[in-house]
Amino acid sequence: MRATKWKIALVVASLAMSMSACGEDKADEGVADVDKNVSFDEGTTMAKLHDAGKITIGTKFDQPLFGLKGPDGTPEGFDVEMGKIVAAKLGIDAGDIKWVATPSEIRETSIEDGRVDIVIATYTINDERKQLVDFAGPYFNAGQMLMVTEDNDDINGPDDLKGKTVCSARGSTPAQNMADNYPEVKLELPAEYSDCLEPLRNGQVDALTTDNVILSGYVAQNEGDFKLVGDPFTEEPYGIGLKKGDDEFRDFINDVIEESFDNGEWEKAWNKTAGTVLDMPADFPKVDRY
Ligand code: GLU
Repeated sequence: MRATKWKIALVVASLAMSMSACGEDKADEGVADVDKNVSFDEGTTMAKLHDAGKITIGTKFDQPLFGLKGPDGTPEGFDVEMGKIVAAKLGIDAGDIKWVATPSEIRETSIEDGRVDIVIATYTINDERKQLVDFAGPYFNAGQMLMVTEDNDDINGPDDLKGKTVCSARGSTPAQNMADNYPEVKLELPAEYSDCLEPLRNGQVDALTTDNVILSGYVAQNEGDFKLVGDPFTEEPYGIGLKKGDDEFRDFINDVIEESFDNGEWEKAWNKTAGTVLDMPADFPKVDRY
């Protein structure tokens, strides 16, 4: 049943995507009002960012629906909209956000080195990553799936992958899951998922695996070429990554996420981006203030 639902949602994908491209919203503007009168305790990261009037956010540049570099050079997608909501609550305009591409394998180091203030990049919260960075959220729950070419009838789930070559991104949880739990699968691991698309199209790899919502973006972007198969087979709760130990900043972002569930901003951000292709989730995730 679930697979059918994914399919139906994707039929209208390309139409919805082209409609959103000529919508009224200026790509730059976020869904939340920028809070110009907000103030923060001295010495906090919130005060530092607010006073500077700018923030650097790491996201993906190659993932339609969540983070895809747009025609004007800035990224668009649900993660990008979540970033604009966080910035707005710090009193920072969307136009004053510096966007940096953070492919899967460099997310932790980008935070640790201070190259970015936060990462919002289809970033699964897990214990291993929590050794290096902290997470606010989750703000969304995804799940790992498989994408194959439209004409492939051999692969219907991870158990059909024995002896097959599967592409994913280095440093991602789907790649790690394949390596740990599917030892008979040959892995191709470029830096970014978009580097898997041509090898999949021309048969160099048999499947691309990552989160369902990322794959849905590629299906929509490449109409008629690819399809999702099977059901989600992991849980991938998406968090906002920040420097480890900055508890005040983590509390603040958790508050922003929870408020966005209640005040309609999350839904507006969804409808403007991923919601053009995917159903709205039935429930919001529960924020984990660990
Ligand atoms: N959510 C998974 C992860 O954080 C896969 C998506 C990605 O690589 O961004 O590793």
